Amino acid sequence: MASFVSHLEGAIDGTILPADRIQTLHKDRPLWVRYDLAAVGRALTKEMLRDRPPTMWRYRELLPVPLEKEPISLGEGQTPLLTCPKIARRFGLDQLWIKDESHLPTGSFKSRGLAMAITMAHHFCVRRVALPTAGNAGGAAAAYAARAGMECYVFMPEDTPVVNIYECHLAGAKTFLVNGLITDCGRIVREGKQRLDWFDLSTLKEPYRIEGKKTMGLELAEQFDWDLPDVILYPTGGGTGLIGMWKAFQELITLGWLVNGKGTSAPRLPRMVSVQSTGCAPISTAFAAGSKFAEPFANASTIASGIRVPAAVGDFMILDAVRQSQGTALSVDEARIREWMRLVASSEGIAICPETAACIGALEQLTQSGWIRPDERVVVFNTGAGQKYVEAIACELPRLNITQPIDWDWLSEA
Ligand SMILES: *Cc1c(COP(=O)(O)O)cnc(C)c1O
Repeated sequence: MASFVSHLEGAIDGTILPADRIQTLHKDRPLWVRYDLAAVGRALTKEMLRDRPPTMWRYRELLPVPLEKEPISLGEGQTPLLTCPKIARRFGLDQLWIKDESHLPTGSFKSRGLAMAITMAHHFCVRRVALPTAGNAGGAAAAYAARAGMECYVFMPEDTPVVNIYECHLAGAKTFLVNGLITDCGRIVREGKQRLDWFDLSTLKEPYRIEGKKTMGLELAEQFDWDLPDVILYPTGGGTGLIGMWKAFQELITLGWLVNGKGTSAPRLPRMVSVQSTGCAPISTAFAAGSKFAEPFANASTIASGIRVPAAVGDFMILDAVRQSQGTALSVDEARIREWMRLVASSEGIAICPETAACIGALEQLTQSGWIRPDERVVVFNTGAGQKYVEAIACELPRLNITQPIDWDWLSEA
């Protein structure tokens, strides 16, 4: 058997499509990858995982890559689940963790999705890929494409963080800055598809990035000993992370791997919180309005570039996951994002990205309102390395007036 994938499924209407060839969208909407989970359950047990290397590929039977194919990998290791006692105390929580995805290759969780998408594109003999990006997806795509020996075209808004521009260029991607937003970049990729024969790696426009992101959910379940936390806060742009994790949890239920919550006869599932900034809040707006789809958000602007996504092709999938989980979607004050970055870096030593800083703002709101209770187990995802956001973390430094010989009086007062 090549893999445990049974078929692909149109997310909008359940249409079944074959998985043995390259696929993109169905009715302009994303596809789910479906597995023969009964067969997975016979082939793999939780105990077998213990002896496997701590990487995202340890869940091989739950992934689309043919078992005989070597993944295109840069060593996607399991990311740490860090306790945050000081932030927890500040917000009146007993237990809070940050799952630190900045440890992944290229410094963001995007590498999970793009390692998978590029591996599958490589399997289907794609030679040339293109994508629009808010930043980190471009950096990851460029790196994995280089490793796979593929040509890569990246289109990003001209005000994308400079590190993202450099990392794409450095990895040999043909990198273009666009006067516009990620949606304008997406239009260029769509228009160029026919002319330049490139494969569109846009968020959710091929089925496999979700499967890569799904490993965040599988890993979290394993780290929590199959008893999932109560609340997950996640910064939402295109939504692959949130959608992928929720998919992981459904598959684990079907496999029967999750343990029952204390005093209940069913597995406990986390309430999924989709977090955006007031500068770009299409999902939280649609959630508040009770809509199935989101309206494009006008004049999107935020320093949290990864969540500057005014329109998402998987909007209904994000909203479904949030609602099914009895979660919520909210936006937080754009003007305070730097403050929350500093709070976490200075109190816990974790250099969170501005996208995750928005989740700290959401934590403040939701603990104050009582939506999150003190005894609940809460996980915030740090989706990328704060160090990549040079523009966002730039600040006035005090003049470091160190001279020789050292003026000890001045030092002790400083
Ligand atoms: C892309 C990105 C996001 C948004 O992720 P989605 O899964 O597309 O919603 C959040 N944070 C960072 C750092 C990102 O690069």
